[in-house]
Amino acid sequence: MLKISDLHVRLGERDILKGLNLDVKAGEVHAIMGPNGAGKSTLGYLLSGREGYEAAGGQVEFDGQDLLAMEPEQRAAAGVFLAFQYPVEIPGVNNTYFLRAAYNAQRKARGESELDSMQFLKRVREKLSVLHLKDELLHRGVNEGFSGGEKKRNEIFQLAVLEPRLAILDETDSGLDIDALKAVADGVNTLRSPDRAFVVITHYQRLLEYIKPDVVHVLAEGRIVETGGPELALQLEQHGYAWLRDRVAPSA
Ligand code: ADP
Ligand code: MG
Ligand code: MG
Repeated sequence: MLKISDLHVRLGERDILKGLNLDVKAGEVHAIMGPNGAGKSTLGYLLSGREGYEAAGGQVEFDGQDLLAMEPEQRAAAGVFLAFQYPVEIPGVNNTYFLRAAYNAQRKARGESELDSMQFLKRVREKLSVLHLKDELLHRGVNEGFSGGEKKRNEIFQLAVLEPRLAILDETDSGLDIDALKAVADGVNTLRSPDRAFVVITHYQRLLEYIKPDVVHVLAEGRIVETGGPELALQLEQHGYAWLRDRVAPSA
């Protein structure tokens, strides 16, 4: 589904990603771990097409299409969802209204008919119930006064409604409480499906206690330097990233 080959990204004067390769198949959950400043968020931004994040080299294929040639809106319509794309607070704009606009924009871009507010409401209520989320989420302003945990729940809700093919979650290093982590994990586990893939970016192993990834990668030195199963996350937890640096550095 997603194939990244020899990706290079330069920010300002610095090479941040330096030949990154990644292969994600439909139905899989991949975790990307790595030390602070390794370029994890940069990878997420690049994939979503955020302004200022362009590839200096390499290819990204998504469902056989050249992702880098697509506008951010085209990427969203093709089913690429970046969880931190919508954490912005938009006071006064109703959450349901906002989501319907995003959802309908994607349908329109795919040449599908838009849903009216009744049809959409029916749909979001189903999603809320599947995810065990509270109704009140529908009525509040977009992320307005939301706690960190509520923003995360809202991201999962957005994800459920938009039904992306590829969901990228950047679990920023901010300290989420266990309840919020579990809500994110439950959401991901509920929304796993054979034709949907997840890339979960996280600094800590914590989240992976609740989401069982199929594949774990370590991003360091601008590349994926190690790939393994869930046990790799545990090794990192025990030995820290220094352990990995010792294993990677000798070639330098
Ligand atoms: P991570 O998410 O792994 O902690 P980031 O992708 O946020 O890492 O950042 C990678 C590196 O890129 C950091 O050293 C950061 O300071 C740098 N960086 C991020 N944005 C910019 C920018 N706009 N210009 C220059 N350097 C940047
Ligand atoms: Mg960071
Ligand atoms: Mg980051």
